[in-house]
This record gives sequence, structure tokens and C-alpha cells, in this order.
Amino acid sequence: MTAAHPHNGAQSSLSYVSPSPTSPWGTYLSQVDRVVPYLGPLAKWTETLKRPKRALIVDVPIEMDDGSVQHFEGFRVQHNLSRGPGKGGVRYHPDVTLEEVMALSAWMTVKCAAVNLPYGGAKGGIRVDPKQLSLKELEKLTRRYTSEIGIIIGPQRDIPAPDVNTNGQIMAWMMDTYSMNTGATATGVVTGKPIHLGGSLGRVKATGRGVFVTGREAARRLGLKLDGARVAVQGFGNVGGSAAELFAQAGSKIVAAQDHTGTIVNKNGFDLAELVPYVKANGGVGGFPGGDAIDNESFWDVDCDILIPAALEGQISAARANRIKAKLVLEGANGPTVPEADDILAGRGVLVVPDVICNAGGVTVSYFEWVQDFSSFFWTEDEINVRLDKIMVDALKKIWDTADRHKITLRTATFAVACERILIAREERGLYP
Ligand code: NAD
Repeated sequence: MTAAHPHNGAQSSLSYVSPSPTSPWGTYLSQVDRVVPYLGPLAKWTETLKRPKRALIVDVPIEMDDGSVQHFEGFRVQHNLSRGPGKGGVRYHPDVTLEEVMALSAWMTVKCAAVNLPYGGAKGGIRVDPKQLSLKELEKLTRRYTSEIGIIIGPQRDIPAPDVNTNGQIMAWMMDTYSMNTGATATGVVTGKPIHLGGSLGRVKATGRGVFVTGREAARRLGLKLDGARVAVQGFGNVGGSAAELFAQAGSKIVAAQDHTGTIVNKNGFDLAELVPYVKANGGVGGFPGGDAIDNESFWDVDCDILIPAALEGQISAARANRIKAKLVLEGANGPTVPEADDILAGRGVLVVPDVICNAGGVTVSYFEWVQDFSSFFWTEDEINVRLDKIMVDALKKIWDTADRHKITLRTATFAVACERILIAREERGLYP
């Protein structure tokens, strides 16, 4: 079932955003509309999913190294807290907007419910190009932002984590700032922290691992052997880089990689033992001597079996969907496929494992980290990876069964499984007052 539904007027009912059908929030709204026919009586609560519970906009002023003062826009959106505290990353990027953060927070609500974690959905961001800041400026920015959103985050309220351009060091500054402001070390206020500050083994690569696990299961169902499969990866950061390494370990050939520095190809597959350190040292794949450079748009024509978008939203447009050669698309990124492209891929028989399950490995190990912080008892990396594998496989199986039963895409099936859980919680809690 892929017919598009109108947005039920919900777009116009929020005065503070005006999304287009291909913008992140517009994409999310149309994904919700598609699941409504499968919600039964719970559909009466649908509007809950179309409105963030709370959106905080903060001014983040910092004194720059040259003595000037610059102001940055910061956001933290808690989309839905029906099932537990908010959970979701913090993004530093020059294109961050309230509307983007809203969509990312909503996908977190769906994702956490899809893997049955006791969390709601949240997301944060600062509209900044962090590559233009010194380390000191980055620390000031992070600390001021954390202080400003400190009124709504906390280990039982809303727990940030890394996303695009944020990492363990930034989580350490956030944890320290929150702890200074509240007067007690609160390791559970963020996840994705360095190991000796209450971080979890396996967290850094968890999202990429989840992409691999769901990809392995999907490939098995398609009869596609990973050994020798040709993989193209867009975004060679935390998610794309880690996923590429695991596919290469399984015998796949990484034949194309694209990031903000360029696009490279190699029919025989890159040597990741060379590419990964090259990206670390040079900040991107551009100029890698073990591959040939091609123009960025040609990435979408590359002959491959598996495509992993692991950069930003809206990358798979309708036009690109018609050109993609892969049989399997694994959405490492959040929101990489616009609804029209989703329909085109489904029509062409390309299987899409959607973001809301495909990249849920990160939040799952974030949950493990949070649990470990509360019990002050830490698991081995093997324990983490085994538990992660099981949660992802079980969640995907339930989603697949739902998709088969209703003859719907994996995306609508994931929304069906997740939204049922969210709206049951909504109904059982009841409306206050
Ligand atoms: P990252 O900052 O580590 O990497 C981002 C990558 O995208 C980099 O390789 C960058 O060069 C590339 N990129 C940026 N702009 C690009 C462009 N215009 N064209 C091509 N490539 C571009 O970020 P990440 O944590 O790997 O996140 C990537 C995606 O995965 C995002 O959509 C994020 O929301 C999603 N995600 C991340 C996590 C996590 O745990 N980090 C979890 C779930 C989902």
C-alpha cells in the first residue's frame, strides 16, 4: 500500500513551520498519513504524532578567540514522551532548522518504539559550521547550549547523544556542564560518552553495526550473498564508515564512497585498511589514492547491489530513485528518501530498509549505556554486540511479518508497529488533566 494521503490539514495547523512535501517534516507527516489505515481505533490519536510535545529555541552566544561575540541558533525538540524520557542526538550543521530538528525528533519517537526501548523521541541541534570553530570555541558553544537546554534535559527527562558533527568529546562537555549546574555528576544525562566517563563499549560503531545486521537479514531474504556483494556508501562518517567496515569484513566490496569532500569509486573494492585511516587523517574520502574520483551526481548511477545513504536527509529524490542500480537500500541516515522516491523504489522492486529500524542500533546501545550508568555495572563488548544483534533481528522480524500481512513496505510496517506502541501508551496514560 503506497498510495499517498493528504496531510490531514496538520501542516497548516502548526503556525511555526511550513513544510514542503519533500522537506524532512513534510516527509515525516506523509509517512504518518500512510500508517493511519493500519492503526484501527488508535487512529483517533494520530494528531499526537503530528505535533511535537515541546520545542525549545535558544540563543547561544559565545566569545570567539578574536574577542568578538557571535550568536548561534540552538534547538531541542521533545517530540513525544509517552513511552519514557526523550532520546535523540545533537547535530551541529550550518543547515540545521527547527523544522529539521522536529522531523529528526519524530523519527526518534518511531525508532525507539520500533525496537521497543522505553524512550520517547527528541533531537537537538545548533545552526553552526563547527569546522570553522577552534576547539575552545566548540567547547564554549557546547557548554552554553547545554546550559540553555538544561531546563528540559536530564537522565530521567531527555538524554542527548551524538549525531552529525558531534562526538564523545562533545558528550563529555555536555555531561560535565549539566553536572556542574546540578551539583552532582550525572553520567546518565547523555550517551555516546567516552568509556571512562560511563560510556559503553560498542557504542561508537553501534549504528553502523545495526545497519549491517539489518542489511545481513534483508540480504538473506533477498537471496543476495554478502560475500562479493558490491556496496556504495554515501557519508563516510561514524555510521557509513562503521557499516562499510563490517560489510567489508563479511566479504563485500565497497565500490563507491561519497562524502562532503568528494566521490570515489573502485570496481574491485577499496582497501578499508587504507581508506579508514586516510579519512581520519584528511577529513574525508576526497583525494584517496586507492580509488578514482568521479563527479558527485554520478554516485547515483554506480553499479552496486547495496546502497547505504549515511549522510543527510532528502538525498534520494524521485529523479535519483529512478537511477539507483542497487537491489537493497539500507538507510543509515535519517530521512534520506523523500516519499515520492520511496514509491518509485518500491515500484522498481528495490527493497528499502527504512531509517527507523535500519539505524536503530545506535539508540539501542545508547539505551545499554544509560542502563549501565544507572547500575554502575558495565558489560563486555561481546555482551553488547550479542544483545544488539538479537534486538535488531527480533524487531526486524516483527516488522517483516507486519509488512507481509498487510502487503505494505517495510517503512509503513515499521511505523505501524511503532505507532501502535506509542498510541497505546498515549491512550493508557490518558489526557491530562
Ligand atoms: P558524521 O558527522 O560522523 O558523518 C556524516 C557524514 O556525512 C560525513 O562523512 C560527511 O562528510 C557526510 N556528508 C555531509 N554532507 C554531505 C553531503 N552534502 N554529501 C555527501 N556526504 C555528506 O555523522 P553520523 O553520525 O555518521 O550521521 C550520519 C547520518 O546517520 C545522519 O543522518 C544521522 O542523523 C544518522 N544517524 C546517526 C547516528 C549515530 O549514532 N551517530 C544514529 C542514527 C542515525
